[in-house]
Amino acid sequence: MRDSDVLNSDPRVIAALDCDSMDAARRFADLVNPSTCRMKVGKELFTAVGPAVVEYLVGRNFDVFLDLKFHDIPNTVARACRTAASLGVWMINVHALGGRRMLEAAGEAIANSPRRPLVTAVTILTSLVREDLAEVGLHGEVSDHVVRLARLACDAGLDGVVCSSREVSLLRRELPSEFLLVTPGIRPEGFSRDDQKRVMTPAEAIQVGANYLVVGRPLTESQDPAATLSLINNAINASLVGARGIR
Ligand code: C5P
Repeated sequence: MRDSDVLNSDPRVIAALDCDSMDAARRFADLVNPSTCRMKVGKELFTAVGPAVVEYLVGRNFDVFLDLKFHDIPNTVARACRTAASLGVWMINVHALGGRRMLEAAGEAIANSPRRPLVTAVTILTSLVREDLAEVGLHGEVSDHVVRLARLACDAGLDGVVCSSREVSLLRRELPSEFLLVTPGIRPEGFSRDDQKRVMTPAEAIQVGANYLVVGRPLTESQDPAATLSLINNAINASLVGARGIR
């Protein structure tokens, strides 16, 4: 057992299973351990395989973040959230731009689930820049929209937001300390940035206030995912121990 296995009762890494088959998901799950990472199932894998892959991972004791970013009328989102909760997932997400009533409906729909998942919101997709937002009628600074939508998600009773690592420190200042910040765009020191424009190392993201880090290719394309995970978890643990209090 590695150091990081001992220290991580609450693994901060969410491995993004960006693949399109059950076999690929199984292969990755066989190489890592639920005490060292959680798993993110997104639109590609879910569309290819369906709930079976979620049930498989939950059966292997992995906490699953079902990243389907629901955005629809409140009734439809509520029903989708309730169905997702029935799969035993740990976290689900919705688009904050669905509005207050949709966000509240999402939270209320799963409030009485036997294993209530955390519900997070996407504020503004990080692929969108100021000009893209202006084109759809959202003028002004991207960061202002991000903060406003994160506040809305918080007011509506959701547990947190998924945000870019560069938004973490701003949101940490603006929102209650228990509000969860989940961030992709993470690259351990020395790893390729791939197509990510701005990245943070695991230690930096934790230092600025992220709770959970979504890590895809550095793990899924690693020759030894368990070793890479151990490297990341050791860096996270060092940051947490070095911080004023363990977040
Ligand atoms: O491979 P990589 O670590 O870049 O993967 C990051 C994961 O986080 C992918 O599943 C990607 O879709 C997701 N994501 C992201 N940037 C966002 C939101 C989600 O990279 N702004």
